[in-house]
Amino acid sequence: MFEKVLIANRGEIALRIHRACREMGIRTVAVHSTADANAMHVRLADESVCIGPAPARDSYLNIPAILSAAAITGADAIHPGVGFLSENARFANMVAEHGFVFIGPTSEHLRLMGDKVTAKQAARDFGIPTVPGSDGAVADIDEARKLADGIGYPILIKAAAGGGGRGMRVAATEASLAEAFATAAAEARAAFGNPQVYLERYLGRPRHIEVQILADGQGGVVHLGERDCSLQRKHQKLLEETPSPALNAGERAMVTKLATDAVAQLGYCGAGTLEFLYQDSAFFFIEMNTRLQVEHPISEMVTGVDIVREQLRVADGLPLSMRQSDIVLSGHAIECRINAENSVSFRPSPGQITAYLAPGGLGVRVDSALYEGYIVPPHYDSLVAKLILHGTGRNECIMRMRRALEEYVITGIDTTIPLHQRLAAEPDFIDGNYDVHWLERFVARAQP
Ligand code: ADP
Repeated sequence: MFEKVLIANRGEIALRIHRACREMGIRTVAVHSTADANAMHVRLADESVCIGPAPARDSYLNIPAILSAAAITGADAIHPGVGFLSENARFANMVAEHGFVFIGPTSEHLRLMGDKVTAKQAARDFGIPTVPGSDGAVADIDEARKLADGIGYPILIKAAAGGGGRGMRVAATEASLAEAFATAAAEARAAFGNPQVYLERYLGRPRHIEVQILADGQGGVVHLGERDCSLQRKHQKLLEETPSPALNAGERAMVTKLATDAVAQLGYCGAGTLEFLYQDSAFFFIEMNTRLQVEHPISEMVTGVDIVREQLRVADGLPLSMRQSDIVLSGHAIECRINAENSVSFRPSPGQITAYLAPGGLGVRVDSALYEGYIVPPHYDSLVAKLILHGTGRNECIMRMRRALEEYVITGIDTTIPLHQRLAAEPDFIDGNYDVHWLERFVARAQP
């Protein structure tokens, strides 16, 4: 096993990876920007290297600085975490060229799944249904108009290189297609340096269901059940749960089989997630994330599997430490994403934490790098804590969620805790009766 791993990330996810390494006897190297000199991931790591100024492009996306840090500290491998360079095929290649192990899939798989047009094509080749839409990238508005007539309105225009909900626009009718097409392409070019877009039918009330996969590239492929991530604002997930309250056992068996079969055919190695939209008992593949995901802890809570540990094992050439028959899905888990933002206006709220007390007790897990006195910098993602609850059933889990939210003290900044408290009291949520558009309407009700 590796002796020393460099963690090319920050915040709670860097800490999460550090913890797995520590429990495996692996030493860790933290990298950080000047804004993160006092961050918890830096404090807990065995060694740390400052890799640049606050803006991410100069630090957490600064490939030469990260590779130099790995060389100086004598790391064996680099874990990219979530976001930043985690799905960057060029980075994965450079890591290998410099003699380090990239803890993630091959650069070929990163490239194939990083472009949603080629990813959808691959899914179709594996026999997975996709959302009806264009077969590939759409060259111009004339072609878009022709295709849209065949697909049917409303139409969703999506960026081939998309992520985080950017480069996505809905055209309700043909009248708005030209503008939506131009805006999506411009946004895609600005955000991803790739203006290619494709078309999909815009589904009216889908749920977002995704399957967590682990594969070792030696024939071992397992799933850890599905996650329901339908509670989203601006296509960003806010609360996730497993199992999905919408699926029956047959549907669960079907979607997890679709996912594991595809990953086995792909010869994939690493952790991955296949994302589907689910409507009227049908599943449609939308994309595959070739990395750890923010919401991975809920799958860990119901299976007892440490996903990061398995990532480290398979990256080192070891087989998965379990087979499908060893995995028992037990109870229910919910993750509340706690962001440093106002729970009504969603205005970012960086600043100093004046008091901090995390909840505890049976079935409560907190993944966070916050501490009293810490200053949440304004430069990065607003996620500051993940409150993860486990219960024997969904009702117990929701009661535990209410209790833990009540205990959680974070002062000095605004957080989304009050939003989660409103959600936990909302009949539709309690009944599991929601789709991907539901949360937008719910938060609009609280707007002044
Ligand atoms: P990104 O990579 O930017 O997150 P995804 O393709 O994963 O984009 O989609 C993000 C979210 O956008 C989905 O979870 C869903 O809520 C919504 N979405 C995507 N495709 C469709 C569609 N065809 N119809 C309706 N909603 C969609």
